[in-house]
Amino acid sequence: MKDHPPTQGVDSGVTCREIADRASDYLEERLPIFTRAKIELHLASCSGCHDYVGQISLVKDSLPRLPQELPSPIKRLRLRELFVASHSH
Ligand SMILES: [Zn+2]
Repeated sequence: MKDHPPTQGVDSGVTCREIADRASDYLEERLPIFTRAKIELHLASCSGCHDYVGQISLVKDSLPRLPQELPSPIKRLRLRELFVASHSH
């Protein structure tokens, strides 16, 4: 009897569903290197997931960055000028 080791296709061990679940983590590089490698392997062989991750990546890139909590030094100086000006009468 002969065993037939699987030679067709690459079993990356990741399902399309997992890709969907982990797409954000993957793009934000929050996954361990081994998981990333498995996802990349899957993306290379699955155009559907490749497109999906590409879409999310585009959306993320187009989102505005988090607003700065503190005003910039120039803005702060400007506010100070305005404050002084309005209280100097
Ligand atoms: Zn897939």
